[in-house]
Amino acid sequence: MAEEPDGTIVLSVVIPMYNEEEVLPALVSRVRPVLADLGVPYELVAVDDGSTDRTAELLAAFRLGWPELRVVALRRNSGHQAALTAGLDRAVGAYVLTLDADLQDPPEKIPEMLALARTEGLDIVYGVRADRSSDTGFKRWTATAYYRLVRRLAGSQVPAQAGDFRLLSRAAVDALKALPDQQRVYRLLVPWLGFPSGQVTYERAPRPAGTTKYPLGRMIRLAVDSITGFSAAPLRLATWLGVGAFLICAGLLVYTLVAYALGRTVPGWTSLFTGVLFIGAVQLVCVGLLGEYVARIYTAVQNRPTYFVRHDSATPGTVPRPAP
Ligand code: UDP
Ligand code: MG
Repeated sequence: MAEEPDGTIVLSVVIPMYNEEEVLPALVSRVRPVLADLGVPYELVAVDDGSTDRTAELLAAFRLGWPELRVVALRRNSGHQAALTAGLDRAVGAYVLTLDADLQDPPEKIPEMLALARTEGLDIVYGVRADRSSDTGFKRWTATAYYRLVRRLAGSQVPAQAGDFRLLSRAAVDALKALPDQQRVYRLLVPWLGFPSGQVTYERAPRPAGTTKYPLGRMIRLAVDSITGFSAAPLRLATWLGVGAFLICAGLLVYTLVAYALGRTVPGWTSLFTGVLFIGAVQLVCVGLLGEYVARIYTAVQNRPTYFVRHDSATPGTVPRPAP
């Protein structure tokens, strides 16, 4: 692969951060030497996703002696995937690597990922978790179910156990930026692009400090966005539920008519009530499924930006903090 002209940024590392003051010093002390040892021009794009703790303050302090650190501050908390979008939109490197702030994914793997992409001419290098024994049993169980489901719905090109630790070439980043999608789930969108890819495996470490920013509600949201973004199968499921309910009801109707003919109509109360409840439940489920897709259409039609940048340290004249 041809060498980039002098001064051109080879690698942008994008790190979304939401209230990560506790882990930030440890993150910097591990990432900075790795990037410095790469021997190529780089930038670290820290996306401050509307943190309300001292994350912004710490980032400003780190920037003083570290010109490669670039801070993109969002106006408010917009979520992990939107923060990634903000970082990808603004990163300028020939390769862009995304990394969680919480050191669960080892920054020491970055040189290996970059070397693999450059020597093999790959556009995407996934970090794949070989071992999740540091995660809780519940997280492991939900993750296994999640990857099994999305691989079924979105296609087996989606690597199992690959989160948002990955390297992308400029071509892959530009392809992502050109997508109109709003509710993005990058771990499904990236494989779907169809670029040549490779992977490196690593052991997932426990979070050294701070708490997870993915409580159960957000995990469910990610799963629903993953499914509705890549498959209309649940809509068909609604049809099959309807067909099944119809068949059962047809059976019950025959039973009712026979019971009527035999003059035993009063004892039918139980089955009648069961039938009413059953149909009601099936209808609600189907309306709910429709609602998820309608909501997706709604956000797509609104076409609002998924994030607002309040400050970008690479853009002169913007203020890091709003006036108090
Ligand atoms: N994050 C973010 N905005 C949010 C939630 C999370 O930028 O609204 C960042 C967070 O700071 C971290 C990454 O997304 O860098 C992954 O979050 P976390 O490690 O808490 O998720 P988990 O590993 O527990 O799934
Ligand atoms: Mg994490």
